[in-house]
Formats: sequence, C-alpha cells, structure tokens
Amino acid sequence: MDHRDEWQRDYERAVTTKSELERVIELSTGEKEAVESLKTEYPIKISRHYLNLLDPNDPDDPLRKVVIPTLDELVRRPGQHGDDVHADEARFQPCPGIIHRYPGKLLLMPTLGCPSHCRFCFRKGHKVQHLSQNEADVALDYIKADESIRDVIITGGEPLFLSDEELEFWVSSVRAIEHVQIVRITSRAPIYVPSRITQSLVDMLAEHRPIYIIFSFLHARELTPELEKGIRMMGDAGIVMLQQGGILKGINDDPEILRELYERLAALQVLPYYAIWGISSPGTEHFMIDGQRANEIVAALENKTSGFCVPHLITIARGDKVRMMGWSPDKATVHLKNRPHAGVSTPINTNILQSAPHK
Ligand code: SF4
Repeated sequence: MDHRDEWQRDYERAVTTKSELERVIELSTGEKEAVESLKTEYPIKISRHYLNLLDPNDPDDPLRKVVIPTLDELVRRPGQHGDDVHADEARFQPCPGIIHRYPGKLLLMPTLGCPSHCRFCFRKGHKVQHLSQNEADVALDYIKADESIRDVIITGGEPLFLSDEELEFWVSSVRAIEHVQIVRITSRAPIYVPSRITQSLVDMLAEHRPIYIIFSFLHARELTPELEKGIRMMGDAGIVMLQQGGILKGINDDPEILRELYERLAALQVLPYYAIWGISSPGTEHFMIDGQRANEIVAALENKTSGFCVPHLITIARGDKVRMMGWSPDKATVHLKNRPHAGVSTPINTNILQSAPHK
C-alpha cells in the first residue's frame, strides 16, 4: 500500500526525460536540441499538472516557455560566465543555507529542490537537496546570534518541496527566535502541483501566524480551480498572501495579461507586491524586456485597475534592490530600498540597471 500523500506522488510523476515529454507534446527541432544540450546543466523537470496546462500545438504558448527550454538558453552575453549568480550570492553567505545581503532580513534556504524547473530560474543548475541537520543547526544559530534580524524569508529552491514535518521544523524554529518578527515563505510549488496545499499544511502554517506566503505567479492560466480552492483555504485560515513575480518576455510582458492575473489574485486575497524586472542569470537573457517597456506596463496598469492590483516595479542597481519610479533612455529614477542610502529617490544612469542575481 502506498502511504505517500497525493502531492508527494504528484511530485514524483514529474516528466524529466525528452522521450516522456515527446509522448505529450510535439517538440520543435530547437526545443529537442535544447532539452538534449541542457540535460546535465539544467535538465527539464515538469509536473504533469503544468504539462496539461500547455498548448501542445503552439510553440509560442507562454506557459510552454516557462518549462521547455529553447536554444536561446544556451546563449551567453560576451564576458558572461557560467555561474555568476552563485558567485555573487556567495559573498553574502555566512554559512550554508543563509544569504544575508541586507540589514534586518535574510534568506533562509532549507532546500534547493523544486517540483518543476522554471527555465528563467537564476538558481538553475544547483538543485541540490536539503540542508543536513548539522547545517540546519549552524544556520539557525546564525539567526539567533544576530538580534538585528527581524525578517526571515524561507526560500530556496522551493520550501514547499519539503514535507509538512520538515517545513514545520523550519517555521517553528525561526518563529521561536524572539527577535524575528516576520516569517515569509516564497513558493511556486502549488502552481506546479496544486495538491500540495492540503488542509494539514494550511493548519500547520496557521498555527505559526503571522506568516506571509509569497506566491510567484506569471500568468492567469496558472490559476486553476484546484489551486484557487487551496488559496482560499489559506486565506480562510488567516494566512497573509502576496504575489511577487517577474515580467518576462513572451510570457507576460503585456499589461492585459498582468491585469487579469493581478485582479484574479486580489479576488483570492493574494495582493500584488513586486513585479520584478531586469534580473537574470546566464541562459535567461531571452526573457528580458527593456526598462522602458517594464515601466510602460506598470504605468498602464495604474490606469486600468484598482490601486492594490498594481505592484511595485523592482530591479537591481548598485548591487541593491530598488524600486523603479521613472525611465528615460539614459536615466532612470529609482527609490533606494536598502543601504547605503535607503529611502532616497534618485536619478541614475540606466546602464547600471543590469542583470543581477536576486531573490
Ligand atoms: S527556485 Fe523558484 S524559480 Fe527556480 S526552479 Fe524552483 S520554483 Fe522555479
């Protein structure tokens, strides 16, 4: 008898080979070549649920671009090397599983595993499994020792790739640290496997309120009835939910697509928080739109929907996360969010807004 939960079986049924994928959809010559070329560096992994959302006959289907590689993924900018994301993050990594880049908050990454592989992911290629118990102890001791940390973002990878028991270990351990006021969990897992939102998961998370779940939707077609039901369960249990996702070329770089997504999310009590522009890593440049277009898209939303359905447009400048306030071809106005000049709105040269790793 199989004692695993339905979501665990759904995770394991993910498609991971070209031959399995070709049984479901017809791949173009370029897609076949890309799947083959990337099978070591960043192999395909697509949940059956998500595969069923794709249009098998449309190579331009936005959801197809989320999970099926193209030859563009093999292209590198001149001077761009393989793994600059992890090299950059390593500068802020005091121990495995922690990235402490900004004052007062940090990322805690119990696992880099994911139920599907997004082609735009900037942590691609490093899908290692969970932290060991010893590494977990060291990471938690780091948070305990620094009383300035008030906000812990449990991310990955995919925190909901963990079992309920493992996730509860992390949430309750962080919640027990007196100086931590805010616990956030970022997740795209239920978009790939909606059965992951179970009553027991919701009950466990609700016990540790206040807790923030930050979803990362890209398109309204990802909001299926089963997933909507799960999100309603979370809302009914008093879990605060936000949306934070990229604006990606060919997937959602259109105000109408985003308006529909944000309005449907807001109706489910998931408030749009960040729209992220200009953050990429090797092999994801083809998803980039230019800054002017990103600003136009968000400005168009301002005119078309409720204020709380319009997210902040966020990017990276001077190595820090910034809020974009305006754009002209050579100059952007940004609001600096973190050190050293937090709170200041300032014009900067657009060429310092560049692809950079972040989460
Ligand atoms: S870490 Fe997030 S963006 Fe990257 S593959 Fe996993 S779910 Fe996708």
